[in-house]
Amino acid sequence: DITSILHTKIDLIPDDEYKELMNITSPFHINVETLIHVMQVMENSIKMGLDPTTQHKSDLKMIPTYVTTIATKREEGDILALDLGGTNFRTLLVKIRPQHDPVVISEAHIVPDSKKQNSQELFRFISDVLKLFMIRNKLDLNKKFILGFTFSFPCQQLALNRANFLYPTKGWGLQDLIDHDVVEKLQECLNEKQLNVRVTALINDTVGTLIACGYKVPSCKVGIILGTGTNACYFEDISKIQTITDTTVLPLEATQMIINTEWGALGDSGCLDFVVNEFDREVDKVSNNPGKQIFEKLIAGMYMGRLAAEVLAVLMNHGIILKAQRGHQESYRQYSPFWVLYNLQTSHISEIELDTGKTFANTRTVMNKLGLPQASDADCAIISYTCRLISRRAAMLTAAAIAVLMKRLRGSNKVCIGIDGSLYRYHPRFNMIIQRHLKTLAPVLLDYELHISSDGSGIGAAIVAITADQERQKLKK
Ligand code: BGC
Ligand code: MG
Repeated sequence: DITSILHTKIDLIPDDEYKELMNITSPFHINVETLIHVMQVMENSIKMGLDPTTQHKSDLKMIPTYVTTIATKREEGDILALDLGGTNFRTLLVKIRPQHDPVVISEAHIVPDSKKQNSQELFRFISDVLKLFMIRNKLDLNKKFILGFTFSFPCQQLALNRANFLYPTKGWGLQDLIDHDVVEKLQECLNEKQLNVRVTALINDTVGTLIACGYKVPSCKVGIILGTGTNACYFEDISKIQTITDTTVLPLEATQMIINTEWGALGDSGCLDFVVNEFDREVDKVSNNPGKQIFEKLIAGMYMGRLAAEVLAVLMNHGIILKAQRGHQESYRQYSPFWVLYNLQTSHISEIELDTGKTFANTRTVMNKLGLPQASDADCAIISYTCRLISRRAAMLTAAAIAVLMKRLRGSNKVCIGIDGSLYRYHPRFNMIIQRHLKTLAPVLLDYELHISSDGSGIGAAIVAITADQERQKLKK
């Protein structure tokens, strides 16, 4: 029970303040009934999203990805890959040889905010960075390369190499790209820079995660990202995907296809209003896509720090934390520590939660970093408690969503789930909370395993790029 964190310092927190604290934070308490309700809402959206007559009304877009198999392990080649849409932009070279672990050479770059708005500027910038990467790695610029593009935004796919951009998320602009083919736009810029590189496939980062995990564990059926944003994909029977318009582009033997759920958009129609609280609404309101990606805003790294800051600001306003410093200020908003609270990042939350709950050394370190060395022991206990409450809710909601996908995969014997993303990797308790709740929520008969999947954006994109190239060669013959 996480209130035990407070009990170590309870003698320092007066009764009435304790009551008020419980009151203010109570909207973050959710129980198994709430999770079951979330599951029902999501199951309903999945059904609607797979049916062309109801898809437009569904929060979940359930996008066909045209990826129909995991790797055969007979793939071979030196493939380029790009990973765009998270916190970093990466250029990669992936060397794939049969029966060997892929070798990945990668570089991380920062995309300046100014380049996140217009797609032509963005893709020109990316092409330049790719060219330098190729030169630095002594690749023969006269040789022809194929490239797999991991693009971590929703796209309507028509084939592996045709993907119309739907809408930006995670603070990106790119309004001019909406409804345009991302592959075509990138290819134009690569050509302009005279790069002998052909984009043969575009995949979502969740798909890369699944494919990279599947390279090691063939029973992998689900790919999940818990990072700046959140999303999942899974293998669905093609017979249940009524939204595929053109089956001629599919390999004859295909029976399943990976579906990109875009689960971050769950709740955009209001169907999660029974979970969303006043703090969530504030985070949504100040985001650059209000009303959109509601589920993502309850969970993902881009928003968790802000959410905690919203709660802490209210606690401060009520004189529950940092009160000694508040002094006689007329308005708490004029007091600088109030604003400093808003510098809290999700990575800080991960750090805070490394504390055992008996001492608050990390919490204090974070407060010092933020410039709030005045935080008392009781303050630290309350701050730590608040962070745990918020991340626990996020992990519980994630467990509910995973459980829904597992129910859909009930026909399989054993299912491996590939997960990646900074929140999952660095938050010390996220995984544990997910596992604990999956035990209650997931079908008892299904044997499952969570695997941390590394380098999905490289290995996954490279493998799909090879497959796409081979299909193209076959069609040519
Ligand atoms: C995007 C998804 C992506 C996820 C994780 C979301 O904001 O809509 O396409 O998979 O972030 O990066
Ligand atoms: Mg990423």
